[in-house]
Order: sequence, then structure tokens, then C-alpha cells
Amino acid sequence: MNCPYCNFNFNKVLSSVSKKELQAEELIPVLCEHCADISLIEKGIIRKIDKMELEAIKESPIYKEFLEPIRKGILAYMTRKLQ
Ligand SMILES: [Zn+2]
Repeated sequence: MNCPYCNFNFNKVLSSVSKKELQAEELIPVLCEHCADISLIEKGIIRKIDKMELEAIKESPIYKEFLEPIRKGILAYMTRKLQ
């Protein structure tokens, strides 16, 4: 499974999640550690997130407590690497 934005391979990251979980009905947000973009896994298939879904996720506790701090960390790391 690759990032739909930058093609980074997620297999290493996703090995901790069972296939059964990945194929569940619910949407699973995935934060790419390479480009810091958020994608969604829907029934085991990864795809880009649309604007409305992104707004909804940004309102959720999982984003504020988990995704946003990590995303900021990745972006800060990327900025340092570019300097
Ligand atoms: Zn990516």
C-alpha cells in the first residue's frame, strides 16, 4: 500500500494493523511520514481524502491529539532537512 500523494510505501507502518481491521467498513485516517499528507483507508483501499472529510477529521479528537502533533513534527523535520 502506497501513499496516494507521494507514493511512499506504508507496508512497514501498516503491518501493525490487522487485515481484518483494514477491511472494516469504517474509514481509517493515515498520516504519511514522508509528505505529511493525510489519506484514508476505506475497506482496505487507500485513497486521497476529500476536502469535506479533511474538515471532519480536523474536528475530531484523533486529529487534535494524535495526527496534528505528528504532522507538525514531520513538517518541522522536512523544513530542517531543506535548510
Ligand atoms: Zn506521502
